[in-house]
Amino acid sequence: MRRITIFGSTGSIGENTIDLIDRAGGAETYDIVALTGGRNVARLAEQAKRLRADLAVTAFDDCYADLRDALAGTGIEVAAGESAVEQAATRPADWIMSAIVGAAGLKPGLRALEHGTTLALANKESLVTAGPLLMQTARAHGATILPVDSEHSAIFQGLVGEDIAAVERIIITASGGAFRDWPVQDLASATPAQAATHPNWDMGQRITIDSASMFNKALEVIEVKEFFGVRPDQIEVLVHPESLVHALVGFRDGALMAHLGAADMRHAIGYALNWPERAELPVARLDLAGIGQLNFRAPDPARYPALRLAYEVMAMGGLAGAVFNAAKERALDAFIAGEAGFLEMAGIVEHVLDRVSGQSGLIDAPISLENVLQLDQTARHYAAEGLKRNEQ
Ligand code: NDP
Repeated sequence: MRRITIFGSTGSIGENTIDLIDRAGGAETYDIVALTGGRNVARLAEQAKRLRADLAVTAFDDCYADLRDALAGTGIEVAAGESAVEQAATRPADWIMSAIVGAAGLKPGLRALEHGTTLALANKESLVTAGPLLMQTARAHGATILPVDSEHSAIFQGLVGEDIAAVERIIITASGGAFRDWPVQDLASATPAQAATHPNWDMGQRITIDSASMFNKALEVIEVKEFFGVRPDQIEVLVHPESLVHALVGFRDGALMAHLGAADMRHAIGYALNWPERAELPVARLDLAGIGQLNFRAPDPARYPALRLAYEVMAMGGLAGAVFNAAKERALDAFIAGEAGFLEMAGIVEHVLDRVSGQSGLIDAPISLENVLQLDQTARHYAAEGLKRNEQ
């Protein structure tokens, strides 16, 4: 039986992964080594029981007692805390889903790769913060990373049998998020609840808000560079309101290969789960005649300053991605908490990038886990400073 671990099993990607596992026979088909979650302990316990997992881990120490009580008498091992999550990655598994949200996904992902496993990577933040480290760890230990972000899965599929050297450009699409048709002057007063409503995709709260600001697309642009090793000037973003074309790969002979599919994460997850084979998946089939037309337009830089920042970050190189991600996470926390306006998020991130790039030895430090984590903290500190500056 294939041994499977899911990091972030209680989240949107985790639930979709479990849906596919359930449909394929659940515990009769797969050996579930470990499931990890955060505060949704009831859901984690329910998943662990149903899939007969060996181990269930909550990332938070204060959730331990609830998880232990919920799984009492089941024989399922229970653990809590950041290091317990990391430890779970060292248990032998054939396929691991990395679907923790935020920079917290980096350490478990690295541990998994050190054990030579196949890592299905939804946690884009780990590629953005430490792409070279992740790719180098995978190479050193013979591990495989499979992209789960829909755009990156689409590119990956478009490259099967192709030589990356023949690729001229890569285009990823963006729905434009909740505010794509709002007047730009109204964005300043947008609320977290309004930003957390996605026109096409059903995703977790943070990534949905990041879609409205295009910070999500900004992370994905950097993710393309890190994963596929192409130059920043080869990566383009198009607003595509229908979210049916996920990415396009342009080759040097002028051919442009597009990947189309329903806006359902189970496609990309299912591709990674069954790779290198293709299995039947419960996703809607597109009726192109019914859809009639597909629209594309260039993103408006005034509406989406995050995209410009992504290219600046790639030009800065080194550990700039770690700074960008941490500053973005802190700015997003502030927006969700009502401490910053929607448009202020980009200003906070820009402030942090300016602060950090002015100091030698920070973003040009060697790309190691220690330096990434250190810079993550520095960036969050500067983001808090930027926040205070906005309040004055
Ligand atoms: P969710 O917020 O829905 O789920 C996040 C998961 O991480 C939950 O299991 C949550 O636990 C757990 N978690 C939260 N904080 C921590 C922490 N500090 N340490 C360990 N675990 C934690 O996120 P999504 O599923 O939407 O996204 C997961 C990742 O996948 C992100 O990196 C996102 O960018 C990426 N992604 C998501 C897509 C989507 O469609 N949702 C599409 C493409 C990529 P709990 O809920 O129990 O607190």
